[in-house]
Amino acid sequence: MKSWESYVRKVVPYTPGEQPKKTKMIKLNTNENPYPPAPGVERVIKDFDVDRLRLYPDPAVSALVNELAAYHGLKPEQVFVGVGSDDVLAMCFLTFFNSEKPILFPDITYSFYDVWADMLRIPYETKPLDADFNISIEDYMTENGGVIFPNPNAPTGVELGQREIETLLKYNSNVIVIVDEAYVDFGAETALPLLEKYDNLIVVRTFSKSRSMAGSRIGYAMASEKIIKYLNDVKYSFNSYTMDQLSIAVGVESVKDNGYFEETLHKIIATRERTKEALAGLGFSFRDSKSNFIFATHESCPAKELFEALKKEDIYVRYFAKPRIDNYLRITIGTDEEMDRFLEFVRRYLGR
Ligand code: PMP
Repeated sequence: MKSWESYVRKVVPYTPGEQPKKTKMIKLNTNENPYPPAPGVERVIKDFDVDRLRLYPDPAVSALVNELAAYHGLKPEQVFVGVGSDDVLAMCFLTFFNSEKPILFPDITYSFYDVWADMLRIPYETKPLDADFNISIEDYMTENGGVIFPNPNAPTGVELGQREIETLLKYNSNVIVIVDEAYVDFGAETALPLLEKYDNLIVVRTFSKSRSMAGSRIGYAMASEKIIKYLNDVKYSFNSYTMDQLSIAVGVESVKDNGYFEETLHKIIATRERTKEALAGLGFSFRDSKSNFIFATHESCPAKELFEALKKEDIYVRYFAKPRIDNYLRITIGTDEEMDRFLEFVRRYLGR
């Protein structure tokens, strides 16, 4: 090993879901939205004045911050925008998780949390979900340096109730509690109303799932003015211009079109409910998902075998070779047609 290598920040990076370079495939592996972004987004891209790219974008991302604040009934000072919620969450870890005490998150959850903690040398402890994949809130009522969990959780899709979230916030009033609401729009209850009462709460959202804009990389955090100020201080000490001109413009346009947003959500929820019925009929079991995916296990068919068989047919779902969940598949909800083709293959494969 070269001597400089002992000074390298060594990390084990996060492994994102596959993005196969195929034109004909059914892609149900990274929780993307099967429907296009709001029609206005295409218009904004077509009309975009390329000359604007000469100039740096607005470092405060004010246009999008203002639009989101109005949409959620908050002050602009309560909104922080970043390059996908991954960027926002990483900034939150960097800004708020600086205690000697461990931060806490579930053992089965978004697998980026431990990567950020390791990268930033933040001590952490994972708390086991119960046998039905529920978060046991008592586990989070111990001394800690902060708490983070997705609601609904990923990859399980299971929602934690508002009463329990409030209990957690009350107990953990001396640390920051982050509720990662990447999937909340698909039918779960948001923790946003709790912002009025708890100044230690951060709610994080993304445009990647419910707004069909994973490719634009837009995420945001909502919290007290004080929290957002601390986040911005760290952001401006890192990289002032995180969001590009075009992303800001398309982000604004997406938020303006609430009708299209709701319509798309309803379609996905209806398809999810239909898919649940079909999967149950084929011998799968799963918790009630409030997200745009179903985390399912089969009574006799090993998940890994089915995952490989699907892949051979160019149907991509997500498989995690991890303790407790290595017999599950996370199946993103696509269009009705995509889900029919997926189910048809599974039916044939299982000989039903
Ligand atoms: N949180 C959770 C729970 C997720 O599943 C994802 C998607 N990988 C993210 C955050 C990050 O999404 P994005 O960076 O695309 O906003």
